[in-house]
Amino acid sequence: SEEKSLNFIEEIIENDLKSGKYETLVTRFPPEPNGYLHIGHAKAICLNFGLTQKYGGYTNLRFDDTNPVTEKTEYVNSQQEDIQWLGFQWKNELYASDYFETLHAYAVQLIEKGLAYVDESTAEEIAVQKGTPTEPGTPNQYRDRSIEENLALFAKMKAGEFEDGTCILRAKIDMASTNMLMRDPIIYRIKHAHHHRTGDTWCIYPMYDFAHGQSDSIENITHSICTLEYVSHRELYDWFITQLGIFPSKQYEFARLNLTYTVMSKRKLLQLVNEGLVSGWDDPRMPTISGLRRRGYTPESIREFCERIGIAKRENLIELSLLEFCIREDLNKKATRAMAVLDPIKLVITNYEGDGEILTGENNPEAEDKGGTREIPFSKELWIEREDFMEEPAKKWFRLAPGAMARLKFAYIVKCENFVKDADGNITEIHCTYFPESKSGSDTSGLSVKGTIHWVSTKHAKTAEVRLYDRLFTSVQPDAEEGDFKDYLNPNSKEVLSKVYIEPALAEATLGTGYQFIRKGYFCLDKDSTAEHLVFNRVVSLKDGWKG
Ligand code: ATP
Ligand code: MG
Ligand code: MG
Repeated sequence: SEEKSLNFIEEIIENDLKSGKYETLVTRFPPEPNGYLHIGHAKAICLNFGLTQKYGGYTNLRFDDTNPVTEKTEYVNSQQEDIQWLGFQWKNELYASDYFETLHAYAVQLIEKGLAYVDESTAEEIAVQKGTPTEPGTPNQYRDRSIEENLALFAKMKAGEFEDGTCILRAKIDMASTNMLMRDPIIYRIKHAHHHRTGDTWCIYPMYDFAHGQSDSIENITHSICTLEYVSHRELYDWFITQLGIFPSKQYEFARLNLTYTVMSKRKLLQLVNEGLVSGWDDPRMPTISGLRRRGYTPESIREFCERIGIAKRENLIELSLLEFCIREDLNKKATRAMAVLDPIKLVITNYEGDGEILTGENNPEAEDKGGTREIPFSKELWIEREDFMEEPAKKWFRLAPGAMARLKFAYIVKCENFVKDADGNITEIHCTYFPESKSGSDTSGLSVKGTIHWVSTKHAKTAEVRLYDRLFTSVQPDAEEGDFKDYLNPNSKEVLSKVYIEPALAEATLGTGYQFIRKGYFCLDKDSTAEHLVFNRVVSLKDGWKG
């Protein structure tokens, strides 16, 4: 088989392992527990865990929980569930908040080295003093405080003697740096807030830049992989590690996943949830892992998607249809086939006198063992799709029409003899005759028909609610549009069919299993489903019908 070429991170790792720079590869996946994970996170998960599966070593799960206001235990739990569902297992479950003591000690060390100071300027003053990318910043009067004074003030900050926003601790680096992030970045702020793990122990919290690299270092992370927005943070990441003299973790950046017709930020997804624009984080239209799972995506299809998109150094935009392609391919191999009639019309076989005839259906012609077989009851009255009959057939119409023949899947060839209309002119019944010797598998009729249609016996049919989904947004890049991304929500992203007829075998459907409704697409049972009220979601259509 063809050797896949290495991505740039794999090249770096292979070199580092070859040169003996590291003996063991250690990566981490570091979500902030401020929402549910999305398909973009899946890319980072597959990358970080995939690397240690390939090269040995291990991957930590580290919750980046330094912002008490937005973080919740519910999110911690959902993030763990989603990573495991995707098929990965972390070595250690860790929390940046476990390092609050150590991080605080690091801050004190910086003060002692004359490399950090307490600043009482307002946020506005700090912004002005910071300068612009073309103009250097200006140091203020707090920058030259004595070490003793800084230590005392920082201790007071920690002791809760100041209100939020009164002062901050800043690193003393270079107010003229060409990298704005190096112009004395904030490293600690006061926040009198309850933390989901440390409770009320702390009222000062480290900033992301002061927590992330040091957490990596504490865990001996060798390759700290993040998205391109952090390129400019790397200098600061290295500065803290150098000044503190701790394990030299290295940061590498790759292009984040952007998908068409999708927003991918927990903050924005939270807005959709909070404003009731979707039914929750796991709404099947959401790009969250829990939404995709509920929609009927498999872990294999998501991993395959992440494999196909690869790892790039430049921003790009991936087609949503590629994700759909991946689940279609996977379900084509796995899904049990069954018949369901979404828009029913009755078909009566006037010359059929059988009673209790049971047909046999192959469960999956794509599977090696054909997926076994199932029993399908047949009778004189069937439901078929309204669209499989045309009163005045178009050219090359191979399905039912007055005088035309078609095969009923797994059953017989029928010929349309007549149809019934109601007072409003709507067709209500189609009358056919059947050819007894045309039974599938033992057809001796000599008839040849081009069209095969699916059906469900009326007296054996079960009913189900079926939810059809379309893309959540009408804009290719809702984020890039003018105004609010929510103005570009697709008003027709969900259609509910309240009375779909399904063959009896489908009443035994189980959660987490994919089904192909023959000719109609891939479906799965929804978690709202009960024995009395079956509910199916359409995962994806059979073919890419999108004309965008
Ligand atoms: P969001 O804005 O959606 O909350 P984030 O980057 O702030 O994203 P984190 O929880 O901090 O979310 O992310 C955890 C990890 O997932 C980080 O290493 C981050 O780089 C990665 N990640 C987040 N979004 C994407 C994406 N769209 N593509 C690839 N990786 C991503
Ligand atoms: Mg983040
Ligand atoms: Mg974020």
